[in-house]
Amino acid sequence: MNPFFELFRRLFSSLFNTTPTTPPAPANTPTTTNPPKTETPKEKEEERGDSSDLPKDTVIVTEVLPFEIKPGEVVEDKPKDTPKPSTETTTTTKPPVVTVKSTKYMWCLDNGHGKATPGKRSAPFEMDGINVQFFEYEFNRDIVKRMMASMTEKGIKFFNVVPEVEGDITLKERVERANKLSSSLPKLYISVHANAGPVRPGTDWSAANGIETWHFHASARGRAMAAFFQEEILKATGWRNRGLKSTAEKDLYVLRHTNMAAVLTENGFFNNLDEVKKLMRDDIRQAIADAHVAAIVEIERKGLA
Ligand SMILES: [Zn+2]
Repeated sequence: MNPFFELFRRLFSSLFNTTPTTPPAPANTPTTTNPPKTETPKEKEEERGDSSDLPKDTVIVTEVLPFEIKPGEVVEDKPKDTPKPSTETTTTTKPPVVTVKSTKYMWCLDNGHGKATPGKRSAPFEMDGINVQFFEYEFNRDIVKRMMASMTEKGIKFFNVVPEVEGDITLKERVERANKLSSSLPKLYISVHANAGPVRPGTDWSAANGIETWHFHASARGRAMAAFFQEEILKATGWRNRGLKSTAEKDLYVLRHTNMAAVLTENGFFNNLDEVKKLMRDDIRQAIADAHVAAIVEIERKGLA
């Protein structure tokens, strides 16, 4: 080879060589008896925080269970066998406290994203004459905050995975905090999100709508858990049932790497103009949070096989 070209090639190669120099990550060493979920880590896995981060060609298994929820139907969160006192003349929006006497699980509550996570926000829009914008981290955090208040009231044990308000906590850090948590109770993981769909050409808005709940593709317990959440959230909102979802090829990070049964709820689409206006409302947020707690109460009562 011409020495001039060889010199040039080496110079070029040394300047633009992009071969990673970081050593491979140490082998995963689970500390519990749960079977490890990890198969071969995939590229860009860290970025798959929720379903809107999945590439378009991802094969997704959707399972729509016959929950028999009528659109618009709102079911109150109260024990079915407690008759309403006939003397009651006023209506209250606050459901009665359901006390869980013995708590079976330690619930790891993950609020999905941080303030610094790119994207995960709607375009600005007008609501009640005011220009507003939806930030997913704020919504997720608000739902988890409402859940924690209710769970404290009911005596259900939980661990707030991300108490920080500023910045962001990576998916890896979220999972590590839950995995390392020492608990005498079996741990379960719930990550709360709102969704984003493909936008209509020339607009910032999507026609996608509804509720979906994700689980790790090979976890029967995760799937069973997801069914409880999907059913309760549908009952509370009456929104479209998009079903239980999983994908073998590109599982979401927190579902793949947690060493416990885990689910991720997608509570409506924040880039659907109709749905985002509902997601901004206090009463809808409370209903969504209550639905999550209703699912938790059901799982506490019945247990996961
Ligand atoms: Zn999300």
